[in-house]
Amino acid sequence: MPTTDLLHPQYVIDIGPRPSLPVAGRAERFPVGRIYCVGRNYADHAREMGHDPDREPPFFFMKAADSIVQDNAVLAYPVGSKDVHHEIELVVAIGKGGRNITVDKALEHVWGYGIGLDMTRRDIQGEAKKMGRPWEMGKSFDESAPVSALRPASEIGHPARGAITLRVNGVLRQQGDLAMQIWNVPEQIAYLSSLITLQPGDLIFSGTPAGVGPIQPGDKLEGHIDGVGDLTVTYRR
Ligand code: MN
Repeated sequence: MPTTDLLHPQYVIDIGPRPSLPVAGRAERFPVGRIYCVGRNYADHAREMGHDPDREPPFFFMKAADSIVQDNAVLAYPVGSKDVHHEIELVVAIGKGGRNITVDKALEHVWGYGIGLDMTRRDIQGEAKKMGRPWEMGKSFDESAPVSALRPASEIGHPARGAITLRVNGVLRQQGDLAMQIWNVPEQIAYLSSLITLQPGDLIFSGTPAGVGPIQPGDKLEGHIDGVGDLTVTYRR
């Protein structure tokens, strides 16, 4: 019986490298662990989804780490849905883990930021909501998490305000400001780390402003966040 070395394990099958993201201007990549997403974190988006944006506690759902795709990807229209929506979001990359992190210490745990699209099979999510079922099949599917190259907080700081926009085929569809988040990034980290132990490599999708809507085959999606950068994704015809 061979001994097991858990630091350098040998596996019975090969599943390839860990998901990761490029870092702007560097050869080294950011390894992606888990992806947590905040629901309804901009008041105008909560209203457009039929909810009252009082400050109820934030809630989270997850996407699989391998649903990540990089900037400039050309994607197939997702299977299983006729109503795939775009949600442009600030992505927070956790560099230092922890639990019960306080709001005033939260930003010490952030390695950097990026721009993400929380692509959503809205018809499947809507059915799950109606049936009281989990959201995963509406939210976590192949190529459902395009993310830009990340930029380190040591270079860009911690963006707390600034325009967040999404254009589809050049037309402005989503527009907001990071300052409009109901729960800001330090509050998201504090709350999330009271429920789970945050790990280095975790990403937080921090919610989307109003203007979510369906995409069509052939659409070009261009996201922008002031001080963070840009993200472009194209869907094949
Ligand atoms: Mn979202």
